[in-house]
Amino acid sequence: MNNYVTEAINLKSYSLNDADKIVVMYSKDNGLIKGVAKGIKKPKSKLGARMDLLVANTLQLLKGRSMDTILQAQTINHFRKTRENMDKLMISSYVSEVVMNFGEGSESASKEIYELLYKALSRISDSNDKKGMLIAAIKFQLKILLIMGFCVELDTCLCCGERILNEDMYFSTTMGGAICKECNNALGVRLKMNYKIRDFLQAMLQFDFNYESDYDKKATEKVCQVCFDLLDDYIKIHTNKRQKSVKLLKELVKV
Ligand SMILES: [Zn+2]
Repeated sequence: MNNYVTEAINLKSYSLNDADKIVVMYSKDNGLIKGVAKGIKKPKSKLGARMDLLVANTLQLLKGRSMDTILQAQTINHFRKTRENMDKLMISSYVSEVVMNFGEGSESASKEIYELLYKALSRISDSNDKKGMLIAAIKFQLKILLIMGFCVELDTCLCCGERILNEDMYFSTTMGGAICKECNNALGVRLKMNYKIRDFLQAMLQFDFNYESDYDKKATEKVCQVCFDLLDDYIKIHTNKRQKSVKLLKELVKV
């Protein structure tokens, strides 16, 4: 009766004592949850690698007064290819951190967020190059902003509401969208955005993770990096907490 079953992805873990760890997970049914993984530090632990970070499991948990206990775990996806590639690992850590920072209070959207996180991690894991990983991350950024009610405005100017056609515009990371040339004379946003980048972002928001459009094919790694950075700036404003992995990611990109 006090047991429940849910799918969850491991986001973070910390030590509880000599034998046990606490694992923070994003679950399909209850949003962010914490569970004690008993005996996980012992060599013969039955949970073992299933409780490693960025693993998706079907879990059986025992409800506790302050914290639940993980009784059983069956792995759905270990995202194996991610573990062999530093870029994949960094970008996967980034998406999991965004979910953790948005996670509290997101229970009503937990199924959508869980599925988005799962798709993003799968796509990153299966990517053949850096551009593919960044496209997965951009899709994830745009879609989680939409779910959380902070959708990026790309069609019309955030100030005057006029439709922006195929012309230069500016992108405000504080306001989360496009500003027309005229309005920007007063605002002075420095980030100029070509309408082709806007069209690319719109496509990324609309298309599913598994659909590879012409936009995916035409985009360069550099364009993807620019889009990733500007969306990340906007996400940071709404999550407050610093995204540690992004700092690391940016360092890696410079190498
Ligand atoms: Zn305007």
